[in-house]
Amino acid sequence: MPPSPSRADASSPDQAALDAESGKTKVNWKAIALVAAGIALTSAGHYFTPSGLLMWHGVFQRLYYLPVVFAAITFGWVGGLAAAAAAGVAYTPHIMITWSGMHHYAMEQYAEIFMFFAVGVLTGILADRERKRRIELQHTAQRLSAVYRELQSSFEQVKRADRLSAIGQLAAGLAHEIRNPLASIDGAAELLDAAGDQPELRKETVTIIRKECARLNRLLTSLLDFARPRRPEWRDVELAKVLDTVIDLVGHSAGKGIRFHKQEDERLPGLLGDQEQLTQVILNLTLNAAQAMPEGGDVWLIARREANGLAIQIRDEGAGIPEEHMDKIFDPFFTTKETGTGLGLSVVHQIVTQHGGNVNVSRNEDRGTTFTLFFPQTRGSAA
Ligand code: ADP
Repeated sequence: MPPSPSRADASSPDQAALDAESGKTKVNWKAIALVAAGIALTSAGHYFTPSGLLMWHGVFQRLYYLPVVFAAITFGWVGGLAAAAAAGVAYTPHIMITWSGMHHYAMEQYAEIFMFFAVGVLTGILADRERKRRIELQHTAQRLSAVYRELQSSFEQVKRADRLSAIGQLAAGLAHEIRNPLASIDGAAELLDAAGDQPELRKETVTIIRKECARLNRLLTSLLDFARPRRPEWRDVELAKVLDTVIDLVGHSAGKGIRFHKQEDERLPGLLGDQEQLTQVILNLTLNAAQAMPEGGDVWLIARREANGLAIQIRDEGAGIPEEHMDKIFDPFFTTKETGTGLGLSVVHQIVTQHGGNVNVSRNEDRGTTFTLFFPQTRGSAA
């Protein structure tokens, strides 16, 4: 979260200037007293030092610049002018009394008084300009912080609305997915009731009930994987073994005519992650690939070295994903399959994101689909 803009100190000169701008004039008596004391002490130095000690008079004469410059910085050009005038008024009688016989020296002292005015006014103008710039910056910072607060509140509102709509979608999807097997079980139960002593029919209906229960069970397992993902256990992943396991598992259940191929770059960078979860990801994608090819074809599992990580591709020669489905396939419960749960790709997306990676889908030039997983983590770079 960006740091909240710090409030200006109520007693700072900028705050005083802001107050002055908004009509609240607070007199800075402390600064006025300091300027007056500086001028009075310097003048006392002149009046009480014997005229023969010219070096000391030179020091005092320059000391006047301190209260003049301080007044100019604190009160602007008006303050510088007023302090220079006060110093001039305090110093002039001393020049007239003490140096009346030294015309040339007295003229130099009057010129010095002129310099008090020049330095006071110039320093004051510069200080005024600087203060104005600071006030503008403070105003801009205040405006920016107001805009930031507004943005944050709208962002929170959008996030809340998004969460509510996601919960609604999830509930609707879940209801839809549960209703179908429930209807089948209900129908089967009725059949079972009417089956009497027909063992064939009884067997058939019990099989239906079992199948639908298994489907509900699968749905709930996927839903829990999706809703309560566990944190990855970071280890070195044996990628070749993961790909072999997946090919082995899917190979057994896939229809005839589907061939699986593995292709790995030599000297692949090490992958850090949760082997079990990554197996699940590649399994889901490979199952989808196999299911997209009822007529058979080739599925490629490719692991490639990338500039700053590792890419894993699952490429099939299936029917492909229609353009209008492309931005829905990762939504929970989106499915085009008779017995699909629509949670496979949601789980893929979630696990890959948890691993700091990303997942992309593209349509192959000839036919079929390619899912690409990219993992930036290489051995030794995980948190
Ligand atoms: P399910 O497999 O249960 O339908 P998924 O989330 O895994 O759920 O997939 C969502 C949908 O994305 C699928 O129903 C299918 O329409 C589409 N899909 C996913 N992978 C592929 C693929 N390789 N080829 C064609 N369509 C796919």
